[in-house]
Amino acid sequence: MLFDTHCHLNFKAFEGRVEEVVRAARDAGVNNIIVPGTDIETSKRAVEIAERFEGVYAAVGIHPHHVYELFLEVRHRVFSSTSPPKGGSPKSLTKKQVSTLLYLLKNPKVVAIGEVGIDKHNYQKTKHQDYKVDEAFVELQKIFLIEQIKLAMKHNKSLILHNREAKKDMLKILSNDELRITDYRSVFHCCEPDEELLQFARDHKMFIGVDGDVVYWKKKQEFIKKVPLEMLVLETDSPYLSPFRKFLPAQAGPNEPKNISFIAEFIAKLLNCQIDELKKQTTENARKLFNLS
Ligand SMILES: [Zn+2]
Ligand SMILES: [Zn+2]
Repeated sequence: MLFDTHCHLNFKAFEGRVEEVVRAARDAGVNNIIVPGTDIETSKRAVEIAERFEGVYAAVGIHPHHVYELFLEVRHRVFSSTSPPKGGSPKSLTKKQVSTLLYLLKNPKVVAIGEVGIDKHNYQKTKHQDYKVDEAFVELQKIFLIEQIKLAMKHNKSLILHNREAKKDMLKILSNDELRITDYRSVFHCCEPDEELLQFARDHKMFIGVDGDVVYWKKKQEFIKKVPLEMLVLETDSPYLSPFRKFLPAQAGPNEPKNISFIAEFIAKLLNCQIDELKKQTTENARKLFNLS
């Protein structure tokens, strides 16, 4: 019994293949999968997929990278002389966007808000032309994050946090007592190998998500050794982060949830523990994280 806590079956890479991919996962012992959204469209698709398969659940949310669409809209309204600012502040615009997630939350297969967070990486490969992370964009990401944390709290949903190169801003927001989701209901998904993040997660009863990149990334291996097993959850972040990417780049193809079993075996060896113990503990952790009985 294994649990993939982060898998984008809702992305184009899996179009027309979802059933086959879920079946292959089950054959590899991966019975539970969480499908996180990254914008309104992919959140809707996550819910549709979760409804179709037993053991598959959805998270809905707007990823910081996709806050860019709204950022451009806000900037256009402010700077365009032909259309003077209307429709309220960035905060009220955000609230309007986030409220569209609300009706998705009513579906019983939606267990979390995610993935949400802050991302300061200047992506080269993105659908957005001239993508650039500046201060104003990060400010809007923060507003989105805060509104979505509030949404999770209000509706008793778990929280999948995405952080890339933004530790300081992230921890500052999560340190606000009014915003935190404690008692093991949130995860630093694909956690950067960073002791401060680990300490924060420990202090605030959060989980650490580990992916297939641990197979070839030494720094992450050293980091994972320091994470108590009770805090660890496994994820693939499919179609990204294939554990085989470094060895078989041509044949590797998109990452799939079935690869959780390979990642689990690797981590069991790394931590010098029994594979059955690792499977049992990480699955238990994931069920606790997503409040599944
Ligand atoms: Zn992410
Ligand atoms: Zn993701």
